[in-house]
Amino acid sequence: TVVTRFAPSPTGFLHVGGARTALFNLLFARHHNGRFLLRIEDTDRARSTQPAIDAILSGMRWLNLDWDGEEVFQSTRARRHAEVVEAMLAAGAAYRCYMTAEDIEAMRAEAQAKKQPLRIRSPWRDRVNDDPTAPFVVRLRAPTEGATTINDLVQGPVTVQNAELDDLVLLRSDGTPTYMLAVVVDDHDMGVTHIIRGDDHLNNAFRQLPIIKAMGWPEPAYAHIPLIHGADGAKLSKRHGAVGIDAYRDELGILPEALDNYLLRLGWGHGDDEIISREQAIEWFDLADVGKAPSRFDMKKLENLNGHYIRTADDARLAELVAGRLGLAEDDPRRPVITAAMPALKPRAANLNELADGARFLIVSRPLPIATDAEPLLAGDAPLTLAKVHHALDAVAKWDTEALEEAVRQVAETLGLKLGQVAQPLRAALTGRRTSPGIFDVLALLGRDESLARIADHAA
Ligand code: GLU
Repeated sequence: TVVTRFAPSPTGFLHVGGARTALFNLLFARHHNGRFLLRIEDTDRARSTQPAIDAILSGMRWLNLDWDGEEVFQSTRARRHAEVVEAMLAAGAAYRCYMTAEDIEAMRAEAQAKKQPLRIRSPWRDRVNDDPTAPFVVRLRAPTEGATTINDLVQGPVTVQNAELDDLVLLRSDGTPTYMLAVVVDDHDMGVTHIIRGDDHLNNAFRQLPIIKAMGWPEPAYAHIPLIHGADGAKLSKRHGAVGIDAYRDELGILPEALDNYLLRLGWGHGDDEIISREQAIEWFDLADVGKAPSRFDMKKLENLNGHYIRTADDARLAELVAGRLGLAEDDPRRPVITAAMPALKPRAANLNELADGARFLIVSRPLPIATDAEPLLAGDAPLTLAKVHHALDAVAKWDTEALEEAVRQVAETLGLKLGQVAQPLRAALTGRRTSPGIFDVLALLGRDESLARIADHAA
């Protein structure tokens, strides 16, 4: 069966690139009825932080990237890693290297003089040390001849001359495993069959394969996916603004299903389909459809998708999110009206901030703050018009949109005005804004007493 994994290093927050890698791993596994695992690569104890681990877990839960089983913490597996190194030493696939820092410096200088990258082949490769107390690291006895080819499921066949590989360190002098070793051992032990990750790891695959071969383990399939770039074509970074998943949720007001759908379409396609549900994505996902070129992050497209998901989302769920953004307490009596307003507010919002902003008029108390651009709507004849409207609405028997519309149209007709000429001052008085949901929806949502009071505040 197919087993994939997402293996983030918790040295920073979960970013969009990582989330997309996780999503592709999940979709591939689900498509094949396999398993999708999570491994936190916290071997670098100095750079790994608990807040980063928490952000990864909560970000994945928020995006519905459910992994199977318990997450694995790489740092807990150090003994197993050392055990594998012992086996490699015994098999001659690795060796103890006693080079000092000065030895390595000399090697670096020599490589630099020859304008070559530093590729360490230690003199200890075929030598034993008589001094059993000398400090050592354990290095891989990497192949020196021939070539290695990976048939990458995204990149196609990629070949590297083995002479270009180095004898990488497997175990440091303090006995701790290196990242390169840990990844290979963990992937093997977790039964990972397909390694899907960013193409910045393609070079690592060539350094990891000799370890796998030395142990006689089955080789996994590789799929190295192109990185995400910013709108300017440069690799996505802090410079491009939000890269952390939490910023999309908290600051930008993006729904998780919208971000999932967007990330899915970023580098993978199914014809011209834009709106793709998780179920469809699982059914359709194939690594063969992942493009080889880096994709560009496009905030406008994300907001378009987000607008779609807002329009189709459940009103109670949206109201909950909006109430939180407006700072309403759990038991605030204004919550029901926020829910009732969702059908009128949803069509105009590209994110939750806009949705919350659109709902704000429902919870502000009188006298209403009037936006500068709405002030002119309340000047001139407006107070007289509003007095007539107040009078007509006060007489409405049943406060529903039909009766309200009828009453307001009547006023417009009597005054010889177009409906809009009445609706604009009315909107400004009721919401303090130039734009809002339909004016009859606004009246219905605010209710009789609040509507009449707000109109009276601006009537002559
Ligand atoms: N921990 C690595 C990273 O966060 C990924 C390793 C892998 O996927 O093999 O970049």
